[in-house]
Amino acid sequence: MSRAFLKHIDQQITKPKLSNHERAVFVLHDQLNLDVWPSWIREEKPLLIFMESAEKGNELPHHKKKAIYLLSSMRHFALECAEAGYPVHYHSTKKHFDDGLNEILSENEELNLTYMAPSEWDSRNRLRNVRSEFLDRVEEIPNNFFLADVEEYKERVKDGWLMEYFYREMRRKTGYLMNGDEPEGGGWNYDEENREKLPKDHPVPEIAKTESDDITEEVKEMVDSWYGDSFGESENFTYAVTRRQALYRLNEFIEERLDEFGPYEDAMAHGKYELFHSQLSVYLNNGLLLPTEVCNKAEEAYHNDNARLNSVEGFIRQIIGWREYVRVYYEAMMPEVREANHFNFTERLPEMYWSGETKMNCMSECLKPVIKEGYSHHIPRLMVLSNFSNLTETDPKELNRWFHLSYVDAYEWVVLPNVLGMSTFADGGVLASKPYVSSGNYIKKMSDYCKHCGYKISKKSGEEACPFNYLYWNFIDKQRETFTNNGRANFMVNMFDKKSEEDKKAIWESSEGFLRKLKRDSE
Ligand code: FAD
Ligand code: SF4
Repeated sequence: MSRAFLKHIDQQITKPKLSNHERAVFVLHDQLNLDVWPSWIREEKPLLIFMESAEKGNELPHHKKKAIYLLSSMRHFALECAEAGYPVHYHSTKKHFDDGLNEILSENEELNLTYMAPSEWDSRNRLRNVRSEFLDRVEEIPNNFFLADVEEYKERVKDGWLMEYFYREMRRKTGYLMNGDEPEGGGWNYDEENREKLPKDHPVPEIAKTESDDITEEVKEMVDSWYGDSFGESENFTYAVTRRQALYRLNEFIEERLDEFGPYEDAMAHGKYELFHSQLSVYLNNGLLLPTEVCNKAEEAYHNDNARLNSVEGFIRQIIGWREYVRVYYEAMMPEVREANHFNFTERLPEMYWSGETKMNCMSECLKPVIKEGYSHHIPRLMVLSNFSNLTETDPKELNRWFHLSYVDAYEWVVLPNVLGMSTFADGGVLASKPYVSSGNYIKKMSDYCKHCGYKISKKSGEEACPFNYLYWNFIDKQRETFTNNGRANFMVNMFDKKSEEDKKAIWESSEGFLRKLKRDSE
């Protein structure tokens, strides 16, 4: 494949002669940290193979910043390995990883290959096909980028075991915030203290921006030229792309934002996208940061009185709890879960997810940072973007595809459980105990969006009314079977049934009119 945009790699890495090597290690784009690879690799410094695959890149029209991040961080890592004395072969292929490896192994009969099991299902199958083809020349080692043992928890998670119990086991195993067998402060979870709205004019620290270097600029040029029609903006790329830069971001978060992470974890604010969130998923998910070092730092901040317990507990829970849990869920539920669609919704994604253009201020505000940066924090993902998709009866697979290609931190193992399990209830309730849907009141309670909106939050139906208000009740009514059978949510059906016939008619009519006029993706 053309190496037109690999100038920096080609200038800085002396191409090794593959026939001189007997042992090589294939490092995938989301495994960029040799500390978790077996120690013989660091001792023997075998040939490292990296690969850019056009076919992998073309599987989805990934956000331009996501493509830039993935490729730039892999190139930086490959260059660092070369500087550290590893022979590095940086391969570029029009085809897929497995084709590239097949080619290399066929042409170099003495070469033996080790790879770490990919966290994504299809990539794993592809590499296993290479292993079958070359039998004893190819070795798979377990994926060591996660903390929980999948086999230990898989069956329980498949049976609907709640995250909260998984999390307690992980707390005991890792020892984070534990006093012997007891949780620090006496409680496992302090979320009761973590539901505050951001007060007006409350200061929010800026996140440092990393300036792009020539390597990132070269990747950007390539992405603009080859993937110009992909989603999102490529301008002003400021993500960290090296471990050193990612560590800087981690320290900055611990020092400046962790303390207020807890109280404002669920808050949203006009024009402020990260608030006190870490924005570290991007770096955790390709190995620039490791979950243990992130949690160690957070716990240390608590012990040094630099961050309150409800913030630190909440943050550590996201990592050793939710992050690990969704990965076990993925392994337990694949591949059948890809087709999950509990409500049998078939509608295409609303067009606004691509353009960001809508009169609904909450949607527009939550879509802006996705289009610009490929990021938003958890609550916009769950309570605005997914909520609206559910209420507009959108096919959850469409939403899952959109999340997968739009976010810089998205890989199938994490996006799929969050969308098909958590946010759309597509799996029928294995991961979530009830569907995450809400009226506009939740958005009003947790943000200042409604103040700037073209719709009126106080109106329940009619042209001017907040669409979340009537669509929510319409959803409860239409999906009453699911809610009636759910002890935690059946009261909603009773509430709808108690409404006057006039109110019900207004809800149905407003919903029908809104859904009929809603512009959908015509792709
Ligand atoms: P913080 O709020 O600072 O949280 C700290 C860390 O905890 C995150 O960096 C992340 O590693 C981890 N974490 C928190 N919640 C989850 C979760 N539910 N699942 C897995 N890890 C979690 N996360 C991704 O990493 N990639 C995705 O593609 C992704 N897609 C999502 C789609 C939907 C619909 C929803 C509801 C959630 C999704 N999440 C995803 C989970 C979560 O929203 C993001 O991890 C988080 O918003 C990342 O921002 P942050 O680093 O600022 O997180
Ligand atoms: Fe969103 Fe409704 Fe509030 Fe407008 S009024 S911002 S549509 S919740």
